[in-house]
Amino acid sequence: MIAVDCEGAACVVGEPGMSLSNSSNMAFAREQATRETNAAVRALFDVGAEKVVVWDSHGDGANILFDQLDQRCEILLGVGFNRRFPELDETYSGVLMIGYHAMAGTVNGVLAHTYSSDAYHAIRVNGMEVGEIALDASVAGERKVPLIFVASDDKGCAESLEFMPWVKTVETKRGLGRHCAYSKHPAVVEKQIYGTVCVAVEELAQMKPFLFKNPVQIEIQFEQFIQLLKARIRRQGWSMSGLKTLKALLPNMLEWKC
Ligand SMILES: [Zn+2]
Repeated sequence: MIAVDCEGAACVVGEPGMSLSNSSNMAFAREQATRETNAAVRALFDVGAEKVVVWDSHGDGANILFDQLDQRCEILLGVGFNRRFPELDETYSGVLMIGYHAMAGTVNGVLAHTYSSDAYHAIRVNGMEVGEIALDASVAGERKVPLIFVASDDKGCAESLEFMPWVKTVETKRGLGRHCAYSKHPAVVEKQIYGTVCVAVEELAQMKPFLFKNPVQIEIQFEQFIQLLKARIRRQGWSMSGLKTLKALLPNMLEWKC
């Protein structure tokens, strides 16, 4: 299963003062995320995958140019799933991430955030600061499925390797600021994704499901108190820890809702 975000794709930097989705760079981000996904899909089928599912995980879950995706893949889209990596189960051999980005607060990470740039200042699991890469990987891990590949900027790739040293990565660009990058050419990135995904599958035996120690203590630190108050309404069973942090003890990451 390939999770597809948009911020980490080649030549995507958004615009200051707004989310990527609202920026003039979004049209290109959709196209490039689609092309990078197709490179991964092609590689997976070429090395023997029986089934590839693409999950559109950015914002409203309707970003990929679906009609331009490789016709052999199946597609998960939209919002309202009950967890990350919806439908994933033990029958899958691996998960991949395209267009992912570094965690909130990462210096010079292009469009770095953790789920919400507006509301979430940081998310911690068992006291450790984490981003979407480790959080999503741990949901797959609970289903015994390893993360095998990540395409992201240099900061996102480094973050992936910090949590999961076995993961194969392709750097799409080098972050020089929140909205600026030294990018590889989009077509070069597609070729590198194709080649590296082939290698990741060859090395499947060395990949491990990523897990946090259960039960997991999750803390969400908000930017503002008002955001915490709003979030508290839908987060039953979460308690306040100071004026900007909500925390909960979850049995495992399958219970995590971002
Ligand atoms: Zn995104």
